[in-house]
Amino acid sequence: MEKLTSIEKYNLEEYELETAQKQDLKQLLKVCLENMDNVDEVSITNAFKLCYMSHQGIKRASGEPYYYHPVEVAKIVANEINIDDISVIAALLHDTVEDTDVTLEDIEYWFGKQVAVIIDGVTKITGVFKSRDSKQAETFMKLLLSMAEDIRVILIKFADRLHNMRTIQHLRREKQIQIASETMELYAPLAHRFGLFNIKNELEDLCFKAIDPTSFKFVARKLREKKEAREEFIDEFMMPVGRQLRQQHFNFEIKGRPKHIYSIYRKMQRQQKPFEEIYDLFAIRIILEDPHTKEDCWRVYSIITDWYTPIPERFRDFISVPKTNGYQSLHTTVITNRGKKVEVQIRTRRMDDIAEKGLAAHWKYKEGEQAGSASLDRFVNWVRDVLDNPRPDSSTDFVKDFQLNLYQDEIYVFTPTGELKTLPKYATPIDFAFEIHSEIGERAMAAKVNGKMAPLREKLKNGDQVEIITGNKINLNPDWIDDVVTHKAKSRIRQFIKQKQRKISEEGREIWIKRAERGKVEISDQELTKIAKRFKYETTQGMYYDIGIGALDPNVLFKEVKKYKSTGRLEDDPSETTSKTEEQIQESYFNAARSIGDGNALILNGEVTNVKYSYANCCNPIPGDNVIGFISRNGDIKIHRSMCNNAQHLLKTESDRIVDVQWAKNIDNKFLGAVKVIGEDRVGMINDLTDVLSKSLSTNMKSINVSSDEGMFEGIITLYVDGISHLNKIMKRLEKVAGVKNVLRYE
Ligand code: MN
Repeated sequence: MEKLTSIEKYNLEEYELETAQKQDLKQLLKVCLENMDNVDEVSITNAFKLCYMSHQGIKRASGEPYYYHPVEVAKIVANEINIDDISVIAALLHDTVEDTDVTLEDIEYWFGKQVAVIIDGVTKITGVFKSRDSKQAETFMKLLLSMAEDIRVILIKFADRLHNMRTIQHLRREKQIQIASETMELYAPLAHRFGLFNIKNELEDLCFKAIDPTSFKFVARKLREKKEAREEFIDEFMMPVGRQLRQQHFNFEIKGRPKHIYSIYRKMQRQQKPFEEIYDLFAIRIILEDPHTKEDCWRVYSIITDWYTPIPERFRDFISVPKTNGYQSLHTTVITNRGKKVEVQIRTRRMDDIAEKGLAAHWKYKEGEQAGSASLDRFVNWVRDVLDNPRPDSSTDFVKDFQLNLYQDEIYVFTPTGELKTLPKYATPIDFAFEIHSEIGERAMAAKVNGKMAPLREKLKNGDQVEIITGNKINLNPDWIDDVVTHKAKSRIRQFIKQKQRKISEEGREIWIKRAERGKVEISDQELTKIAKRFKYETTQGMYYDIGIGALDPNVLFKEVKKYKSTGRLEDDPSETTSKTEEQIQESYFNAARSIGDGNALILNGEVTNVKYSYANCCNPIPGDNVIGFISRNGDIKIHRSMCNNAQHLLKTESDRIVDVQWAKNIDNKFLGAVKVIGEDRVGMINDLTDVLSKSLSTNMKSINVSSDEGMFEGIITLYVDGISHLNKIMKRLEKVAGVKNVLRYE
């Protein structure tokens, strides 16, 4: 039988819910209609059906059917975050892609792109949570903020976590503590940052209850015991004020019962005071219903202070100067006739909503004043706009907190053990390797990004998990200097380039010494420096370097030294020996061409020539490579690959000696090329590689050099090739050998 696609399997239009589920759906729709202006009941009904059908047969730890969970999450989204129906639909389906056979494509088909994007985001973020290191809460929050393409992803994640915390008692104790501390560390502060104060408070209380049930019960019991006395006190306190307010036609609500158990406990801890003392600091909130304004708040303040004496230094005006998260309220502390201190908070309904529901509420009001209905797209755009364009605009002042915490210039990636690393944007696995340890950077051979082999020079993305495969020797590549962005990596690679240059200079010096010995000439360093200067080298180092890479013929230097030795002085006429003009270079090279002429592989300035040339040892160019020619002082030409580091250096410093060269069409010679093969260190690997070369490609191998480390194999194979296309063919074939992960051109 053919397998049904989810779209065929779940016939949402025709499916009939049972009575119990119909009841659940009805309740959800009711919450939606109470809290939102536009509710797409058909889509919510379909999402509910799909949620119910796809999770069927699965149970939660509590023994309840699984679908209860997404339905509850959807209710939290509707009731406590109340943004829009799209978030409700996404909440209903938030676990389907991860846990059921429903795919993102299915979701897009039924509910559209937006819902699919949100669910994809929720699924990804959930994955990120699983591999995190708990010590890096702040960085982790940044990661979440920068990962969420749609703000609703994070809002749904809050609702998801809130419901999981509400039902945490069904889990094993260790699991409870683990989840609760993660929630305390990450979700509660993040909810606070989003201004979702109700959710933050409830999360904290639930965590507190799970982690320290004894203390939680203690505070909760104390609160219960005092409840009646407290309510009596509030009534008494409010009696005269309330009468006055009603007389002046104020429409208001009083909130006076502290609900946040954890904050009372924390105050007790912090101030080292018993419950009673903390609790006796009464706080009463007076909320003015719409359409009261901020001016009305001041009038209420005036009425209260008519009755009770305010303590001036405890007065706070968060209405004129809101807190960074948008919180607005008037705070004053007054003393009752019986000498009791009471903090009074005065605010409008709108301010209270913002205080409890955060950004979402703020936007709703902002928008409501103008357009009348809240469209989430605009909210999302607005948040994004605020995040992306920090500007001194009073309307966006309150989200300063956000601006500070949105790190556009950084990315966050994980180590294989789940540790989080912050890197600059555009960082590569090489940067990552150096970030872990300089030795790892130096020995990096290959990288795995999210479990797949990836080039070391590829740019990393937020949330990538990166693993570096290292060899047992230094494997730095000077070309990386342009790929890396961190200081650590850059300075080490620069140092490496210098070392390499020093080594080449050293080799050049040895070549020179041998030449000098052969010619039985002795010359002091001082004298040689003078001669180097005549060749326009600042130091003998520079001259040796050119000898090392073949740019300066030691015979030419030898002649000059000999001349100097015999005459005791340098030539007076600089035109003979000092740096040549372009014309002279051309001339000398044509002279050389006439006299030597053995080449047939090269086209120089568009013409086939018989110039003497040789291939630079530093980069071993082969036909097909982009190459440049470098005219050495004795007139012959060194061919470098144009990307070769030495060639790049010559281009910068001695561009007048560079000539344009191309490969001739028909070349009979074989060229030396080298490839590096990285893969699993398995039995028979070398055999398989050499077999591919000799049998199927009939290529002659010059040498093969292998090393292995922790199950990884690295081989450098030198072989004779016709040119680049031949080499590419070889590389493709080698890639297909079982266990081979990466094949690179090796210089
Ligand atoms: Mn969930």
